[in-house]
Amino acid sequence: CSALSIANANTVKIGTEATFAPFEFTNEKSEIIGFDIDIIKAIAAEEGFDVEIVNMPFDALVPSVLTSQLEGAIAGVTITEERAQRVNFSDPYYKSGISAVIRKEDVSKYPSFDSLKSSRLCAQIGTTGANAAQKISGNVGTYNTVPEAIMELKTKGCEAVLNDRPVNLYFLRTKNDDSVVEIKELLNGEDYGIMVSKKNPELLKQINDGLDKIRKNGKFAEIHKKWFNV
Ligand code: GLN
Repeated sequence: CSALSIANANTVKIGTEATFAPFEFTNEKSEIIGFDIDIIKAIAAEEGFDVEIVNMPFDALVPSVLTSQLEGAIAGVTITEERAQRVNFSDPYYKSGISAVIRKEDVSKYPSFDSLKSSRLCAQIGTTGANAAQKISGNVGTYNTVPEAIMELKTKGCEAVLNDRPVNLYFLRTKNDDSVVEIKELLNGEDYGIMVSKKNPELLKQINDGLDKIRKNGKFAEIHKKWFNV
């Protein structure tokens, strides 16, 4: 019993939402893989703890960290003031922004975000993409996952999907689906952070220290190259 509790004491529960390639998604064997997963595991290895990855809906992550069902979460989560009132964020680890995916036949109709202001838009629930869509048209359908939102776009349930650009680019590059394209305009200025319970400042420090170490020893760059090929 004591051996078990010592092992458990070293395992940190980290939430994610695994339909957000290349940050977190599942392979053919249903294993959760991706940039974020490698990053948190590399940090944990540096800092001497184990990670248990827990998959759940995106909009359940902040509440789960807040109520200590999770000790933290890594899910391409943008650092926002609103979230930072409820959970702590690590130092920023990835620069992101929002882009819109539209049907290819609509490229000339929707050259910009402004041209979408009277359109129904789609996004993943609880995301900065959903907030941006709310500001642009206020007519927003929200879905549990981005793939579901894209499906809705393709069946003409909405005119654009607002989502994080690196995820849109990865989708367009890997899915061989030429029925959808990205508009040229971008909303930049988002930073991803790892969420940590405010009740666990020691874990926040370990994660920031580990992040700093993997930046300095080249591991971060290696993981970045593996998933983004640059
Ligand atoms: N970065 C966006 C947000 O934090 C989307 C994250 C996601 O869908 N995994 O809201």
